[in-house]
Amino acid sequence: MENYSLVKIIGEGSFGRALLVQCKNSEQKCVLKEIQLPLNSKSENTRREAVLLSKMSHANIVAFRESFEDGNLLCIVMEYCSGGDLLQRIQKQQKEQFLVDDILKWFAQMCAGAKHIHDKRVLHRDLKSKNIFLTENGTIKLGDFGSACVLNNSKAFAQTYVGTPYYVAPEIWDNQPYNNKSDVWSLGCVLYELCTLQHPFQASSWKRLILKVCRGSYPPLPRHLPYEVHYLLKHMFKTNPKDRPSLHTILTSHRVSKLLRHHLTPEVTISESHELPQRKQWTPSDTVVQRLANASLMSANTLSSGRAEEEPEEPKEQPENRQRRRWSREPAQRLLSVLEKAPLHRAFSTFIIHTAGLM
Ligand code: ADP
Ligand code: MG
Repeated sequence: MENYSLVKIIGEGSFGRALLVQCKNSEQKCVLKEIQLPLNSKSENTRREAVLLSKMSHANIVAFRESFEDGNLLCIVMEYCSGGDLLQRIQKQQKEQFLVDDILKWFAQMCAGAKHIHDKRVLHRDLKSKNIFLTENGTIKLGDFGSACVLNNSKAFAQTYVGTPYYVAPEIWDNQPYNNKSDVWSLGCVLYELCTLQHPFQASSWKRLILKVCRGSYPPLPRHLPYEVHYLLKHMFKTNPKDRPSLHTILTSHRVSKLLRHHLTPEVTISESHELPQRKQWTPSDTVVQRLANASLMSANTLSSGRAEEEPEEPKEQPENRQRRRWSREPAQRLLSVLEKAPLHRAFSTFIIHTAGLM
């Protein structure tokens, strides 16, 4: 801490504080995120944010500088993005639409950053305009790895709901594991926001919100946008993750690719493809939708927003039979009943819900 001097506090949340600091040696401004380490329990999960961010090295991801511990605080020092976050940028527009070129440039850069994350076999799990930053010269940087996890770490998602409800893909409401295509859905929400200055799934209640997401029904994009963007969004909002394009496909072989590549410098364009293996197929069922329509609410005992202190125990393998089907059919109701305890505007905040207590 003695290597940095405080400039100002830029954010305060349940995790701790985010500070704008200046490095005493280089005079460079950085963001220092202080995260409270849990006192009596394992702190691996808290450290995961630093570990995963440190693995990234890409022009469109906030650069990791160092991390260290200071008493019971974990400090993560990273690049400062003075242009603020994309949500602030969208709100600043008021009613004036963004230029198509800006939309394509920003979207191409966020896809390039997210593809790098997936190539490292990591899932971000909380992509939203509030976690996407702009530098002084208008370059996109993906940030906030506080919800990220390593792919195939079943522990990380099996009994934990992680995400921001307004950006969460239908399969998450159906209690399916988070996968690379779930991040694609979230980026679809951000693309829609850039195109319309509105969120695609607006609703007056939690139940309506989840129903809209599970049906993938959103108001059409403005006509002036290129056909390729309409076509892309339709695919990013396919309710079955198998039907959604991967980031590799979006950047290389989708109808929109040419428009996007035009906005990427050669070094951030496509390196080797590392397509992630697909998890077991999820077929979109009407059941989530029907269930929600008839949902009778249950009481729940665990709701937390902010950072998880502890991942739950590894779940027992479920046999592929009716029992398993029943297990995977109810959670939308359960999650709904937990979420409904929070006001709807909180659907823009990151939630971590330990569902273990609900099963
Ligand atoms: P959380 O969402 O858990 O509060 P974040 O890392 O997303 O954590 O951000 C904490 C605060 O710091 C937010 O106000 C965010 O806008 C700001 N922030 C985070 N990273 C940066 C960065 N690299 N540059 C500028 N501001 C940042
Ligand atoms: Mg954040």
